[in-house]
Amino acid sequence: MNKDQFIQSLCPTLPVSVEHPISRPEKPGTRFWVANNGLWVEISRPWMYLLQPVATRNEALTPFGTINTPILELPRLPRAVMEEFVEAAREACPNEIGCWVFWNPETREARLVRYEQKTSTDAIQYDRPAPLPGESLVWDIHSHGRYDAYFSPTDNKDDFGDTKIAIVIGNMDKTEYSLTARFISREITIPLNG
Ligand SMILES: [Zn+2]
Repeated sequence: MNKDQFIQSLCPTLPVSVEHPISRPEKPGTRFWVANNGLWVEISRPWMYLLQPVATRNEALTPFGTINTPILELPRLPRAVMEEFVEAAREACPNEIGCWVFWNPETREARLVRYEQKTSTDAIQYDRPAPLPGESLVWDIHSHGRYDAYFSPTDNKDDFGDTKIAIVIGNMDKTEYSLTARFISREITIPLNG
């Protein structure tokens, strides 16, 4: 297999049928769809499914079928897990703290993993925890101590290459903390708050 074949096998690019709707893929992965109205990306994992436009035009671009409705199906972070993290983040303040939440789509159980880490007021160093069989990394949460919740250039670098939901909470010294969240993958980033 040469380089082009390898890339194309990882990210198949297909014309949208004018007769049939897109059927869900059998295996997790990424596909690009060339539609009448632009280029769309489809990402599937055991825990999520997404079909979103990445470049669209109002007038017909190709002779292929049209995709009309974007889809984004993500699990919800259990409230108890979020509360557990908020408590840990308040305790760690003014330092940052990070946790991962693994999710088993079969059992629908979420597990907050507080990994070994070195933290300061503006950084976290850690080794990636490993999931148990059947689990996926779904949520990557960290706090910003006394600072606002936002995705910093360091966060963007750390998140690159993962497919996950990234959450930042900030202002942990205040009664009302701030929060920002996004779905991220190599191909697309979608803000989730607001
Ligand atoms: Zn951050």
